[in-house]
Amino acid sequence: MSKPKVAFYWCASCGGCEEAVVDLHEDILGVVSAVDIVFWPVALDFKRSDVEAMKDKEVAVAFINGAIRSSEQHEMVELLRRKAQLVVAFGSCAHLGGIPGLANVFDRGAIVNQACVNAVSVVNDQKVLPSEETTVPEGKLTLPLLWNTVKSLDQTIDVDYYLPGCPPPVNLIGEAVGAILKGELPAKGTVLAPDIALCDDCVRRDTKPEKPALKEFFRPHQVKADPEKCLLAQGLLCLGPVTRKGCGSVCVKANMPCTGCMGPTSNVVDYGAKALSAIASLVDSNDDKEIAAIISKVADPVGTFYRYSLPASLLHRRYNGSTERG
Ligand code: SF4
Ligand code: SF4
Repeated sequence: MSKPKVAFYWCASCGGCEEAVVDLHEDILGVVSAVDIVFWPVALDFKRSDVEAMKDKEVAVAFINGAIRSSEQHEMVELLRRKAQLVVAFGSCAHLGGIPGLANVFDRGAIVNQACVNAVSVVNDQKVLPSEETTVPEGKLTLPLLWNTVKSLDQTIDVDYYLPGCPPPVNLIGEAVGAILKGELPAKGTVLAPDIALCDDCVRRDTKPEKPALKEFFRPHQVKADPEKCLLAQGLLCLGPVTRKGCGSVCVKANMPCTGCMGPTSNVVDYGAKALSAIASLVDSNDDKEIAAIISKVADPVGTFYRYSLPASLLHRRYNGSTERG
């Protein structure tokens, strides 16, 4: 019997999700012996034309990581959607838009100008910007269109399952692959991680007060955190109360607050709004001025509460009047 065909693809992301697959260590040998990897550009020399030549639904499952922010990524995920029976949004960026999704605070013009003209490491006196088509003596060069708005995978194609995390925890990847191979998958649309908050899993949960009362917020470099006590109770913005468990609370074990990469549990509509309201409810004051002073200590509120989820949020992006494509 032929082995199920599997594809991996990388869109707008850092590459950590691809590393997470390799982090299966020797377990990857079991995966490789059980499936036929037919597309994995970061590791194996397959081309887009190889995928185009496949029959529709020939691939059993496509694991796609990264947000979607260019015409090329959109074309590739539409192609993989046609060829695959199942599509798994792999990692925070595919799941919710991820850190690349914070680009939705700006528009494309501002981003391209910053990267190509204004960055301190760039010399571009003529202010040359990338364009979709450039004619050179040898012919026409083309580049994919960079979209004005970063999207999560399910804002561009139909998605069957989600493996959350930045990157997804290795044990969850192994369980997902096992469930796919055995045909023991839950209902379509399920996030393949426990549907309960991270605090439930946390080694410090017994030191978390019923309702921490906070007079001040700190960033991790501003205090020496007690390694035994709940970080939130120490004024560090730990988002464990609103984040899905499944990672083994690795950041908290390293004395760093949870920044929310596993995303919300299934009863939450907008992760950032939930995180913001959960933290705001802990402010220990009834005085408007004092409340404003305490809240002002939260550096970069969008980056703090929507670090991984701005494209999938109800806000989606900052409206800047642009009518640009994408
Ligand atoms: S708030 Fe953070 S440190 Fe405190 S119990 Fe929850 S996950 Fe652990
Ligand atoms: S502790 Fe939070 S930020 Fe760290 S891996 Fe887990 S869910 Fe992600």
